[in-house]
Amino acid sequence: MPDISVVAPLFNESANLRRLAEALIQVLKSCDVTFEAIFVDDGSTDDSWETIRAICEADGRFSGLSFSRNFGKEIAIAAGLDHARGKAVIIIDADLQHPMRLIPIFIAKWREGYKNVYGQRMTRQTDPRLRNFLTRMFYRLLDEFGDTRLPPGSCDFRLLDRQAVDALLKLRERARFNKGLYAWIGFKSFGVPFEMQERGSGATKFGYGKLFSFALDGLMSFSALPLKVWTYVGLAVSGLALTMAGYYGSRTLIFGVDVPGYASLIVSIAFFAGMQLISLGVLGEYIARIFDEVKDRPLYLIADRAGKKPRAPGEPCASD
Ligand code: UDP
Ligand code: MG
Repeated sequence: MPDISVVAPLFNESANLRRLAEALIQVLKSCDVTFEAIFVDDGSTDDSWETIRAICEADGRFSGLSFSRNFGKEIAIAAGLDHARGKAVIIIDADLQHPMRLIPIFIAKWREGYKNVYGQRMTRQTDPRLRNFLTRMFYRLLDEFGDTRLPPGSCDFRLLDRQAVDALLKLRERARFNKGLYAWIGFKSFGVPFEMQERGSGATKFGYGKLFSFALDGLMSFSALPLKVWTYVGLAVSGLALTMAGYYGSRTLIFGVDVPGYASLIVSIAFFAGMQLISLGVLGEYIARIFDEVKDRPLYLIADRAGKKPRAPGEPCASD
């Protein structure tokens, strides 16, 4: 059983992998721990997989999993955790944006007894300004309405003790929002502030479309408010309608019938039709997620493996 399992999800990161492997070997050597590293290839279309194979052949501590297609970073991390044997797992992006110098600090804190040691992004200068702004809005929304408190700036770059990993392995939801899950499991946690570095090579894999659906997953997995809010909106609107009925009813009784009112009528019809469609849409979003969970498909499919066989789910690991 290695002390540390490193899990790196990657999608088309061929140019970064060798540097990542070398940096990991160096830093973990300085920490005086035994380790294994699992590269999870999330359906790359470049030659990432060939590179992983070569790295695994040269060094028995490295192994690789190759997905049958792109399942997304959250699922790739889940697969890495499934296959890790170590007493603790370090999750790190493959694009070299997460500074290696934090790893010794993570390990030191882990040795002090913390089970969930996370990197805390202090600024987001490496991201475009619009993304920055939208991200901040999203976290504020989640903070306001979510059921689980996320530590500010927390990210996937972290060390999880075996106990925390085993807890995460029990959460098999498909619409995964890992940052929420790390917070949901709890355990003694410690945040280590850091600045994100520039990408080694290539560009971000998260366009605005992908980020938006990721944000929806996050909000809907950790808050039922979008569902519940319609009860209140409905109540308010009905109250308003009743008041209006009273007003117009008595006005008609007193002053008789008057015909004008087309504009106000059409506007209110359009407005409430819109509200109904939105609320139906929100229901649809949740139902689609329920449908996904109910289908009970596997989280991911592995097409190929490299290096020493990574632990299959259910096989013994450090906790057994
Ligand atoms: N990634 C992945 N699957 C995807 C998208 C990204 O495994 O569908 C990996 C990617 O290769 C990188 C990490 O997740 O190692 C973070 O992605 P990226 O750098 O594109 O995101 P950003 O740093 O811009 O948030
Ligand atoms: Mg990145």
